Amino acid sequence: MSDGCFDIAVIGGGMAGASVAYELAADANVVVIEMEDQPGYHTTGRSAAVFTETYGPAPIRALTRHSRAFFENPPDLFCDSGLLNPRGILFVAREDQEENLDTLYRTIGSQPGIRRVDRSELSVLSPLLRRDYAVAGVLEEGARDIDVNGLHQGYLRGLRQRGGQVISGAEVESLERDAGDWKLRTRRETYSAPVVVNAAGAWADAVAALAGATPIGLMPKRRTIVIVAAPEGIDPDHWPGVVDVDEQFYLKPDAGRLLISPADETPSEPCDAQPEELDIAICVDRIQRAFDLEVQRVQNSWAGLRSFVADRSPVCGFDPDVDGFFWLAGQGGYGIQSAPGLSQLAAALIAGNSMPTELGDRGFDLSDVSPSRLERTRVTDRA
Ligand SMILES: Cc1cc2nc3c(=O)[nH]c(=O)nc-3n(C[C@H](O)[C@H](O)[C@H](O)COP(=O)(O)OP(=O)(O)OC[C@H]3O[C@@H](n4cnc5c(N)ncnc54)[C@H](O)[C@@H]3O)c2cc1C
Repeated sequence: MSDGCFDIAVIGGGMAGASVAYELAADANVVVIEMEDQPGYHTTGRSAAVFTETYGPAPIRALTRHSRAFFENPPDLFCDSGLLNPRGILFVAREDQEENLDTLYRTIGSQPGIRRVDRSELSVLSPLLRRDYAVAGVLEEGARDIDVNGLHQGYLRGLRQRGGQVISGAEVESLERDAGDWKLRTRRETYSAPVVVNAAGAWADAVAALAGATPIGLMPKRRTIVIVAAPEGIDPDHWPGVVDVDEQFYLKPDAGRLLISPADETPSEPCDAQPEELDIAICVDRIQRAFDLEVQRVQNSWAGLRSFVADRSPVCGFDPDVDGFFWLAGQGGYGIQSAPGLSQLAAALIAGNSMPTELGDRGFDLSDVSPSRLERTRVTDRA
């Protein structure tokens, strides 16, 4: 006996689950089931909040470009203020990294708003950057800060307005297929729906195991963020974010302070990730080498899990072998900026429609995100 019958049950209320549920709720009766009391508690609430059309593999870049229209013109009443704020991203290179900067420019230089920056302009754009450190840069003027909470809450509010439900503090502990319906059991309730969307972030392979689906080889990787003061009397808010061309660190103004990261990618089990002292120390060291900044005190720090499959593109599509089981996972370090585009794609596929035509026009190829592209091994097959 089920406590609720729905058309679609979404497991996970982070950005992936909230955004796809919002899109689906326009035409279907949708429930989001989230194990934490706060749906943004895990990766969604721990991001660096950057929107950049040059970051990540080609499918992500296409999805992010496609998402820009939603960010710039969200639906009426979706949010109280704009979802994007001016920022810019400056990729910088030391002398020994110049070749890598050339390669980056060859990859992204044809996109609008991208230009090379010479040594003299680097310190104008980012005054703390040491003059004897970086020799050249590439500027993405169109990069933005995202109001992540505004976007996430907008999706959850919009979902409820469309008649959808969010059940939080409810971990899905078992999944059973019965006469064309999934039965989803939490400690207190059972829900049923013919379609389940696996938007469980770092736990997506664990949720797949409940459904008897073959794992996609998802690897959660821990990334650390540290907040420090800007130098006395300096307001950094109009500076662009600065990213090492080999992604060894980044620094971004954050409400009058500086958000810094060693851009770490330490493999982890799915968990409530916490920052490690060593990663904080590495972060401060790398930042002090590149910037004229003496870090006296760490004001705040956190860590989150960015989850990738082998080719670092997301996984979006019905499982080829398990009926009614849809994957929406592996968004890595790009799941906020690509959420509008990816959720529109996922909702179209779940409804049995073709992908939005604008995505095809941007060179997006559905097979690059399909679960079928992955070489998947069941745990028992490995023995
Ligand atoms: C340090 C850091 C910086 C980042 N910076 C950026 C950035 O600048 N720009 C960008 O676009 N992206 C960034 N990202 C990536 C982005 O945050 C993620 O891609 C995105 O948040 C993933 O959303 P999600 O909904 O898949 O995962 P999550 O937010 O983790 O949501 C998954 C949810 O599933 C729930 N769940 C799991 N198992 C179950 C179960 N059995 N039952 C019920 N619920 C379950 C979890 O509780 C969780 O809330 C960053 C990430 C990190 C860690």
